[in-house]
Amino acid sequence: MSSSTIPPLNTAALLREYGLRPKKKLGQNFLQDPAILDKIVRIAGVTEKDTVLEIGPGLGSLTRHLAAAAKEVLAVEIDEDLIPPLKVSLSGYANITVIQGDMLKISPSEIINAPEYLVVANIPYYITSALLRHLLANDPRPRSMVLTIQKEVAKRICAEEGKKMSLLALSVQVYGKPEIAANIPAGAFYPPPKVDSAVIQIELYNEPRIPTHLLDDFFRLAKAGYSQKRKTLRNALAGGLRISTTEVEDLLHAVEIDPRRRAETLTLKEWGGLTKKWIEIR
Ligand code: SAM
Repeated sequence: MSSSTIPPLNTAALLREYGLRPKKKLGQNFLQDPAILDKIVRIAGVTEKDTVLEIGPGLGSLTRHLAAAAKEVLAVEIDEDLIPPLKVSLSGYANITVIQGDMLKISPSEIINAPEYLVVANIPYYITSALLRHLLANDPRPRSMVLTIQKEVAKRICAEEGKKMSLLALSVQVYGKPEIAANIPAGAFYPPPKVDSAVIQIELYNEPRIPTHLLDDFFRLAKAGYSQKRKTLRNALAGGLRISTTEVEDLLHAVEIDPRRRAETLTLKEWGGLTKKWIEIR
């Protein structure tokens, strides 16, 4: 079936039929506009060779558009109550596998049986950060990710390196290049969320920008660096790593980083140098 011939789902009616209401605590804001769903699939560049992982299929509106373009879709939904209506709305598609579970507790290797895959999902804002880290830090890593998320979070993830980089932006940009590919107004969802959303595309690098064997230490350092907002690196690292400020100053001077700088101003290259030095002298 071509995506333009997929009849739109009536989310509200389907929920009513099953005696369900959208669950706020699971971030259930459903998309049903076929033009927007098509746009997301186009942004993701899904082809008939692709295996797609969708997190949170909900009632299956995006899933059906993905299935029309992909080789196969694995759809992981946490909410047991949605599984019966989801299976009904997906019944005409042979290339979709629905898995009931919490994606944060499922390793991609347990369910993906392909050398590479794409992630396309409309996810609740509160799992954005944990989910990104979970999928990026575990093998197999996706080739690219296209996520519909809160616009503010999308903007933060895309922050320019060295300028107001949050720990989330840093954790994403070490693996790939994020870009806002589209804006989606709150009114496009049922029920509409309080804030606007954006579609973010993350093209993953073949190798992370910090060598893989340094990643654990890099994340420990970065977490320590960001542990106390508005603090200088000297104080944040000393507190976070439980070492003296003199030791931190020596470490930072050795890689020519001013100890009065803040974590958010460091580039990935500087984090890489700092991590190497820390491992060397510790
Ligand atoms: N994809 C659907 C759409 O666009 O209409 C639903 C999107 S809704 C924003 C998010 C979905 O993610 C919900 O169906 C929710 O139950 C599901 N969800 C929330 N946390 C999850 C988790 N940890 N693992 C899998 N699914 C989750």
